[in-house]
Amino acid sequence: MFDLAYDAKHSVLLSRFSGTYSRADIELRDNAVRRFVAKNGLARGLMDFSAVDSIDVPLDLLIQRAHQPGILTGHQRVIVAPTEPAYSFNRLVAAHQLFARKAEPVLVRSVSDAFAVLRMIDPAFSPIGLDKAAHLDRVLHDALCQLTEVVRARSLDDEIVEATLQRVVGRALSAPVVGHITLSEILNVSLRSRVLRDSGIRAKCCGCRARRPLSWMSISVGRVTTYSCPACGGWILKLSQVGSTVRADASGYMIGGFEVMSRVTLDIWGVKLPKTEN
Ligand SMILES: [Zn+2]
Repeated sequence: MFDLAYDAKHSVLLSRFSGTYSRADIELRDNAVRRFVAKNGLARGLMDFSAVDSIDVPLDLLIQRAHQPGILTGHQRVIVAPTEPAYSFNRLVAAHQLFARKAEPVLVRSVSDAFAVLRMIDPAFSPIGLDKAAHLDRVLHDALCQLTEVVRARSLDDEIVEATLQRVVGRALSAPVVGHITLSEILNVSLRSRVLRDSGIRAKCCGCRARRPLSWMSISVGRVTTYSCPACGGWILKLSQVGSTVRADASGYMIGGFEVMSRVTLDIWGVKLPKTEN
């Protein structure tokens, strides 16, 4: 778990972690800090691990992230880690960042030491609440974690079916390639899978209540790909390409360089992805 707070007078963004420090904390916090920077500009960074009691982050993720460009580039960063295992973990983080970015965060044992390093007098942090973008990010993250498990199980089945079909009838199971981008393709990239199909994603039209797989929807292609109900014509799902730009106020799910807006809950092999529109 983590929360963010900002001291505008000293231009310091505080990230406070608690409990188990996990991969989800890293990914969701990175996204939240990118949105903060898009809205408010760069700030100095203070990461507080005082309330962390265990660390569940694979070493390869730590190294890979240290070698990516920092988000608060060129700004002072201080890490507070009073106890183990957070102290040793952050020693390793700092060493990798020094090697990769030629700049390392200052690691201290107490919050008061951190305030001294940042020359903060009477710090006043205001909490940064969970906005819609942060909420959708968490919902999407949970759904993708569940889908990873489902896809792993289904991949094995599909590979066996596919190999059998190839051997017996000489044809592949894979759906024909269509001209427009589909939601299942975007999800497959994110899940590092190739087995998900639009036919495996079901949606119930919010207008006429008909329930169909996405592969049965009408699709209009343009700057935005729109899935609509073939019965009543109401739109169900929109995919817009946004690339790597981070917007302060995204109103849909950000997946693989696309913004996904949905008017209905999607059922992806039993995993529910809630709607993004009210
Ligand atoms: Zn309909």
